[in-house]
Amino acid sequence: MRKVLREIIAYIREAVYTVYSIAKGLIVTFINLFRKKVTLQYPEVRWELPPGYRGIPCLPVDPETGKDVCTGCMACARVCPSQCISIETHQGDDKKRVVDSFTLDGTLCMFCNLCTEACVFDAIRMSNTYELACFSKEDVKFDRAKLNEIGGVREPKPKEPEEALEKEAA
Ligand code: SF4
Ligand code: SF4
Repeated sequence: MRKVLREIIAYIREAVYTVYSIAKGLIVTFINLFRKKVTLQYPEVRWELPPGYRGIPCLPVDPETGKDVCTGCMACARVCPSQCISIETHQGDDKKRVVDSFTLDGTLCMFCNLCTEACVFDAIRMSNTYELACFSKEDVKFDRAKLNEIGGVREPKPKEPEEALEKEAA
């Protein structure tokens, strides 16, 4: 008899706790119905990236020539701590350097921005591209054409983040 009584009490306690848990969960849900949303319907909706955001480096194209303005000086490749930039050049008939290939290994890049700071020609810039997920490492080894595509058309250099933030705050 005692055993049966204990089982009934345990059953009632379990039932009360279940109802309490459900009610608690519903209250939390109800409260959050009126809170400001912090999530987005990604990928249909995306966050506006802050000034100075560092996506994968790219080589934007000059709208007049249809080409990037890289001279193959190698400054970016030398400064890159990850050694992820490979550039091949040769000397043209006019003794000027000609860029044969420009490759950036996205598997190694750590988005440090040093390459863009080293480039006196402003040829390489940090892009806003961050969706780099893929099935093969080869797909994140970007050649010059792909870096041109990511960079799009060259626009005047964006303002320094601090400057842009000050302007926004004013
Ligand atoms: S991107 Fe700039 S620093 Fe790098 S090789 Fe081209 S011109 Fe030189
Ligand atoms: S952002 Fe940094 S790691 Fe990436 S290519 Fe430029 S210098 Fe190298």
